[in-house]
Amino acid sequence: MPLSLISNDKQKRSGISRAEIADLYYNCPTDELISIGQRITVQNHGKSILLRGLVEFSNYCDRSCLYCGIRKENDYVKRYRLDKNQILEIVKLGYERGLRTFVLQGGEDSYFSTDYLCEITKGVKDYTGDSAALTLSCGIHSRSQYRELADAGADRYLIRFETANPELHSFIRQNIPLSKRLKAIETLKEEGFQVGSGFMIGLPKETDEDRIDNIMLAGELELGMAGIGPFIPHPDTPLAGSLQHPIELSVRATALLRMVLPKTHIPATTAAGTLDPQGREMMIQAGANVLMPNITPTEAKKNYLLYPGKICLDESGIQCIGCLSIRVKPLDRELSFAKGDTL
Ligand code: SF4
Repeated sequence: MPLSLISNDKQKRSGISRAEIADLYYNCPTDELISIGQRITVQNHGKSILLRGLVEFSNYCDRSCLYCGIRKENDYVKRYRLDKNQILEIVKLGYERGLRTFVLQGGEDSYFSTDYLCEITKGVKDYTGDSAALTLSCGIHSRSQYRELADAGADRYLIRFETANPELHSFIRQNIPLSKRLKAIETLKEEGFQVGSGFMIGLPKETDEDRIDNIMLAGELELGMAGIGPFIPHPDTPLAGSLQHPIELSVRATALLRMVLPKTHIPATTAAGTLDPQGREMMIQAGANVLMPNITPTEAKKNYLLYPGKICLDESGIQCIGCLSIRVKPLDRELSFAKGDTL
């Protein structure tokens, strides 16, 4: 579907055209973009920042994405897997602390068969019932596998397209076509999932026009959640030493994404907080309304490094919640423990 598939009809549905976004991208000062993004966010989401508890359950991956620190060829990674009981224990702790959305994220690890993922999903949902939402993030699967996961109780699925440029996608994902990723997103929606996606920004070979296409594609996909992760080159990947762009690029893109997707949940990503100590706060000011405390046990999360220098590795997820609550106060925001379904 990509790119040319951004039909006039769908552009109109988001209320803002590609030409308008391009004009703002090239010409609007950053403080003005932030102010527009913030106004739209507060109008549609109020002053709440939703929390999603992130559990990184496996850093094994069968793939070789060029930018990724846990790609299968990286022999420096200390690999781990959490088992079902460990995952359930973490979810219980998070639930007791008030979290009502859990995101189980892993590499594309075939050890976690569909049956095993269904078992884990059922275990979580048996404990939380409908009072909490469960998001899975474990890559491309077949329609029937997605259906089994939905039948087991999974509510949401996170699968980023990373770039709207098909050639760049094939390059960074080592010949996996963008169309396959987009097809998975459509299939997930058809199977009833609330779908989150998003893209990286600042990749090598990426152009300004690609960045505008990223924003428009996220708009076209009508996502429940859409995130932007700044590209941070990992030293143990083929993209080591690539140019690192300043946080402003991500902040400006967040404001533009908010204009295209007023009602979609947008996370202030950990990668932004890694790139700049105030990165997440800047993203919130520009249009983000979600934070994702990492509740993975500290010993494990130290080894889930898609990019280097990741923050909050020594704190437990519960400590992270306290810290985030202090961080959002000066922004005149408050944390929300609501489930936060797609609007
Ligand atoms: S980005 Fe995801 S699929 Fe690609 S290597 Fe990393 S964990 Fe695996």
